[in-house]
Amino acid sequence: MHPHDKLFIPGPVEVSEKTWAAFSRPLIGHRGEDFKNLYRRIHPKLQTLFGTKQPVFLSTSSAWGVMEASIRNVVDRGVLCCMCGAFSDKWFDVAKRCGKKAEPLQVEWGKHIDQKDVDRKLASGKFDTVTLTHSETSTGLMNPLPEICCVRAKYPDVVLIVDTVSSFSAVKIEMDALGIDVMLTGAQKALALPPGFSLFSVSEKACARAGKVPNRGFYFDFLEFKSEQAQWMTPSTPSIGHIHALEFKLDEIFQEGLEARYARHARTNALVHDWVRRAGFDFFAEEGFRTKTLTCVKNNKGIDVLELARRLREKHHLVIDPGYGKIRGQTFRLSNMGDETEQTVSHLLACLDDVL
Ligand SMILES: *Cc1c(COP(=O)(O)O)cnc(C)c1O
Repeated sequence: MHPHDKLFIPGPVEVSEKTWAAFSRPLIGHRGEDFKNLYRRIHPKLQTLFGTKQPVFLSTSSAWGVMEASIRNVVDRGVLCCMCGAFSDKWFDVAKRCGKKAEPLQVEWGKHIDQKDVDRKLASGKFDTVTLTHSETSTGLMNPLPEICCVRAKYPDVVLIVDTVSSFSAVKIEMDALGIDVMLTGAQKALALPPGFSLFSVSEKACARAGKVPNRGFYFDFLEFKSEQAQWMTPSTPSIGHIHALEFKLDEIFQEGLEARYARHARTNALVHDWVRRAGFDFFAEEGFRTKTLTCVKNNKGIDVLELARRLREKHHLVIDPGYGKIRGQTFRLSNMGDETEQTVSHLLACLDDVL
């Protein structure tokens, strides 16, 4: 691999040399047997990772594309957007830009969405859709997904969209068992693939809803994805390199074993947490609701975060994030997503100690 600065930002994350090698395999035609066989081979593994019996779709777009698609395909009467950070807040903005009736359920950044508040809102009968970000990457928070899914189950007509961009494959998420209707993830975070690609799955209920919602467009029409997937194809020419890389990554994931993979993320995350306490910092996200794939460190010591990031990059060629949006400088984020191990995360922490 060319000498480069290694990414410890929470997306895009470092892509391994082996993954790049798979990405640059020779192209195949997307309407031929080779492609159909490729999609057919990866599909059962994707279903296992999603915890679903539904088809899993491949989208050549970043995750925002599928977020917008979800809104356009399933929101009819109104959407409740659970908001607790930059990504979950964005769902509300996207819904309004798509011309949908949307209402925020906003909590302070760093706090979690309480299922009782979701219950109260849904009881109004105003909403046919809820958006929820499982792992809020901007604040390092993980929402109580099973609890919120239990509440949603009281409202069988409500479609639940869950953004799992920074938790998918690092934390167990059982789409069917939880009753998630649209589950989506991007390539460049927990999966450690190059950016520009997304995966999603849609329940039968959400597909039926899409069938009744007008103006779904073409590129992101769920029903186009569904009919094409039935023939192991995608509606338009996909990024074939991504699908080759995905096949390689899936092999790696299942060789490691899902439980071992979840446990590795829990251990590397705990290492970062130990360092935060030892270094005298605090956490931005409230206790009990911290995500497992990154840590949003609160700059309670008032250090110059941009300077810290600059020195880490210059001296050690490691890149961290100096905080997202309105909490830039007041926080910094350390990722343990993707291929990181105890060894690589310990190295990052030792280098942080050095520049601090
Ligand atoms: C990164 C991220 C997104 C957006 O992903 P893009 O690839 O930039 O479209 C959405 N949601 C969450 C939780 C994210 O972390």
